[in-house]
Amino acid sequence: MEKQDILSLSHQEIVAVCEQLGEKSFRAQQLFEWLWNKKARSFDELTNMSKQFREKLAEAYYFKTVTISNIQKSKDGTQKFVFRLGDGAHIEGVLIPSRERITACISSQVGCGLACEFCATGTMGFTRNLSVGEITDQLFAIEQVAIQELERPVTNVVYMGMGEPLQNYEHVMASIARITDTKGHAMAPSRITVSTAGISKFIKKLADDNFACNLAISLHFPDDERRTKYMPVNKANNLNSLSDALAYYHQKTKKRISIEYALLHGINDSIEDASLLAHFTKRFPVKINIIEYNSFHGSSFKPSKAKKQEAFVSFLQKLNLIVNIRHSKGKDIDAACGQLIKR
Ligand code: SF4
Repeated sequence: MEKQDILSLSHQEIVAVCEQLGEKSFRAQQLFEWLWNKKARSFDELTNMSKQFREKLAEAYYFKTVTISNIQKSKDGTQKFVFRLGDGAHIEGVLIPSRERITACISSQVGCGLACEFCATGTMGFTRNLSVGEITDQLFAIEQVAIQELERPVTNVVYMGMGEPLQNYEHVMASIARITDTKGHAMAPSRITVSTAGISKFIKKLADDNFACNLAISLHFPDDERRTKYMPVNKANNLNSLSDALAYYHQKTKKRISIEYALLHGINDSIEDASLLAHFTKRFPVKINIIEYNSFHGSSFKPSKAKKQEAFVSFLQKLNLIVNIRHSKGKDIDAACGQLIKR
């Protein structure tokens, strides 16, 4: 029989496995804690388990995880990780330190099928979804480096690396369940953000599934014509359907939604665009993150001029909208938003 990935098992499935193998019920709790609290990644590490039980586990299961193949360090302290997967594919994650927090930006897919024109990952195409362990273990590897080098743990996690998290819904939600489980990594859901290009049916599903983390929408274009041109996901999820989904999401979760908007020179940075953006946010409370665009090799887009950015932001602020300007970090190592790609 083919071996199964032990990191894909839910808490309940671990209980069932332990029962099947004739182990007492407390073993299931111990095994879960080994996997998700102590982060054991080989059966030899389960030192309080019998040798016989470890051997039985090793016969039927393996660990589908990631290994660090390279780390690049930016002048500003950002570190870009290249992770190698069991099948030889590579993905990227980023450690972003600041005075108050340490953020881990992690990937959810190998490549991405949504092909947003301004994004380096979008040029790779989609290869496959990541497993639960491949998602969580990026965070755990980044955290180990943070503790070793900065003597601080990761405080925040953003699903903003390679891929569209909601197209890998099941594994992304299972990874969040392990990261937030009080017997697992025990991180507060409020410290986790999932960022989507905007797939309406999954945004509604998040609301129905009592999603307790933060949701960010990569909006970037305030009308359907431009959004469809530069973000093909908009064809099947136009701004009306996205607005309906976000209103539903807010009605059920009562949470504020982050709107990500990269200012692109001459494309979406006029005052009319700011006005359309403000109009889009009328039905639900938002926080608008204005992102400094990072060009990548082969991209025809350029960041907005400082004056345009100022005018855009002040227009929104005058309407009493919450607006943050996100200066990207790690630009010198291609670790900034939209620059992740396996070269
Ligand atoms: S911006 Fe996000 S959804 Fe769009 S292509 Fe890049 S990784 Fe995919």
